[in-house]
Amino acid sequence: MTKLITFLLLILLCFSCKNENRTSQTSETFTETTIKKTEFAIVIHGGAGTILKKNMTPEKEEAYQAKLEEAIRVGYKILKNGGSSLDAVEKTINVMEDSPLFNAGKGAVFTNAETNELDASIMDGKTLNAGASAGTTTVRNPINLARAVMEKSEHVMLSGEGAETFAQEQGLTLVEPSYFYTENRFNSLKRAKDSEKIELDHDGKTAFYDLYIKDSKYGTVGCAALDKNGNLAAGTSTGGMTNKRYGRIGDAPIIGSGTYANNATCAVSSTGWGEYFIRAQVAHDISALMEYKGLSLKEASKIVIQDKLTDLGGTGGIIAVDKNGNMVMEFNTAGMYRATMNDKGELTIGIYEK
Ligand code: ASP
Repeated sequence: MTKLITFLLLILLCFSCKNENRTSQTSETFTETTIKKTEFAIVIHGGAGTILKKNMTPEKEEAYQAKLEEAIRVGYKILKNGGSSLDAVEKTINVMEDSPLFNAGKGAVFTNAETNELDASIMDGKTLNAGASAGTTTVRNPINLARAVMEKSEHVMLSGEGAETFAQEQGLTLVEPSYFYTENRFNSLKRAKDSEKIELDHDGKTAFYDLYIKDSKYGTVGCAALDKNGNLAAGTSTGGMTNKRYGRIGDAPIIGSGTYANNATCAVSSTGWGEYFIRAQVAHDISALMEYKGLSLKEASKIVIQDKLTDLGGTGGIIAVDKNGNMVMEFNTAGMYRATMNDKGELTIGIYEK
């Protein structure tokens, strides 16, 4: 009898230990996926890359921080007043597109042919509707075009001249291609071409893989938001990568790579070396890990950026928010311009790794 009781007690002990383990292993997932953290939330990025404090002047740092704050406050106000996450995403991105500090809109980088070709996309987590534009040269705010494609056309992605005709029909603001000229970006192109020459002279590597890009920063802008109605949205806008050729299109306008939103999981916007983000399907992969494996946003983002993307050789990062308002900023570069705000109006701004 005593033996039987001891045996039963042992089994009970084992069972409770096992349960305790399970609780501690999944407690992060449990809290992240079940507890509503904030009524609404917004998170933005202004590009990732080799952003080092030693290369920054205090003035430059201040300028970036001020612009990030100005942009995120625009979206915050919309959300606070009960506006939609889509409006918050679009209007927040507009502020960064109009600033020469970021590689989007006014600060877009140059192609090898010394032109500016812009890409953008937006996604509505409620309907899973999405819109994107690629390779435009005259649309002042490509994120507005992406939204028009989503809401006013029966397509998901328009490119080049056709996209511009559509933009005109929709009454969007068009500019001369020269509007996108900035001296800084033009100098970056010259540097990229020079380093390309050096590399070709030395070891004959292909033009697009160059030391300059490895050592550069990606200035794409993006925003993800959760509104008071529980709707998620994400958007991304970019000039692409310096010295890109042949009508190259990056990840920013590719739904599932540069942008993804789904009310059941999260909203994500990416920045980094686009070719890798397309191959790893970064934004959708994060959502899929949450949907099919029940991972938290934090866990899913870490796996996709620190394991999958990194193993592939890709660099960059993402910002994301889940349906409970948990916000994540994950990157494998030295820095990423970023900011978050919650329903209490608490603001965080970051540039470097920690
Ligand atoms: N992802 C963008 C692209 O490859 C670049 C960036 O993030 O700045 O076009």
